[in-house]
Amino acid sequence: MIKEMTDKYICNTYNRKNAVFVDGKGAKLITEEGKVYTDFGSGIGINALGNNNDAWQDAVIKQIRTLGHTSNLYYTKLAAILAKKLCDLTGFKKAFFANSGAEANECAIKAARKYSFDKYGQGRYEIISLNNSFHGRTLATLSLTGQEKFHTDFMPFLDGFKYVDINNIEMLQQNIDKKTCAIYLELIQGEGGINVLDFDYVKQIRKICDDNDILMIIDEVQTGNGRTGKLYAYQHYEIMPDIITTAKGLGNGLPISCTLFNDKVKDVLTPGTHGCTFGGNPIICAGAIACLEQMTPNFLANVEKKGKYLKNKLLKLDGVLNVTGMGLMLGVEVKCDYKRLVDTCFNNQLLVLTAKGKVRLLPPLNITFEEIDCGLEKFKESLQTELNNM
Ligand SMILES: *Cc1c(COP(=O)(O)O)cnc(C)c1O
Repeated sequence: MIKEMTDKYICNTYNRKNAVFVDGKGAKLITEEGKVYTDFGSGIGINALGNNNDAWQDAVIKQIRTLGHTSNLYYTKLAAILAKKLCDLTGFKKAFFANSGAEANECAIKAARKYSFDKYGQGRYEIISLNNSFHGRTLATLSLTGQEKFHTDFMPFLDGFKYVDINNIEMLQQNIDKKTCAIYLELIQGEGGINVLDFDYVKQIRKICDDNDILMIIDEVQTGNGRTGKLYAYQHYEIMPDIITTAKGLGNGLPISCTLFNDKVKDVLTPGTHGCTFGGNPIICAGAIACLEQMTPNFLANVEKKGKYLKNKLLKLDGVLNVTGMGLMLGVEVKCDYKRLVDTCFNNQLLVLTAKGKVRLLPPLNITFEEIDCGLEKFKESLQTELNNM
């Protein structure tokens, strides 16, 4: 019924699996028929604190009972509190709120171009990003995305983007010239296959950026908000970026994204140069504040612990070739066909994702060890089925 209605009335842009989830708690999701699934996907990294998180629900409901929206023509208390909290936790100086990861990246692209234009005039607008990156679905963020398969169907894309291979500092250096205004990176490529950038590579990029007044921009849409065991993944690398963008886990299910600026770029965007009508919506900010309040140092240490536990258990399974990633953002390379394995996991009531040739796991950050074991058991069984079918 819902499947037929969806297929008839919603644009056919997704390959959906046949389940209608109506309820859930933590790392469990329940279908219309009452089937219980273990959730190792968090709605693609959105539900960082699991399904139906209590504190998040309370905060959102409380705000819904007062005001839903006022707009940025006036001041919004919860947006100010959230921005201060994000700045205090990171050392960035100013925030811009929007609704999606793509919009946060659009904001950063615009800010990078404007920073350079204000200071150097025309012609210094090129941004270098990485092959296998993913930055969103709008035309500018697709232009920034370094994957050929996204650069069809919608020509022409934006001018001013170049792509280099990850962890190759020479190739990056060869591509920098007087037109370069920013280098744009995911520290762990999400959609591109859970590829982790080398520590030294990232530190060298910071130095190149400092030496040439090039902005270092980190896309933390997926790696942010506790996912890797730090609040933001750059905190593993002993560097401070000029700009980061984040979204997915920040709202625990409600649409919010944020672009954070350091001291050098905090005032680049001025009245009238950028905006977002929904941005800083009080209901969504209330939810995001309730999320961040739960992501204490102890909580983050536990994400790291659970990630190591899960990774080690996976590496011991027959048919697992390698596991990449950090914290609870893991990519599993398997001997069998990874897409078929994802389907078999689904049939065994375990939700997992794909990432360019790998099975991607993004469980809720507050998943329990028992829930991890339960998911691992289903994963092992599914993998065994697929190995037997080879
Ligand atoms: C998901 C994702 C995006 C796009 O986010 P939307 O909210 O879908 O626009 C951008 N960058 C990265 C790294 C992502 O994982």
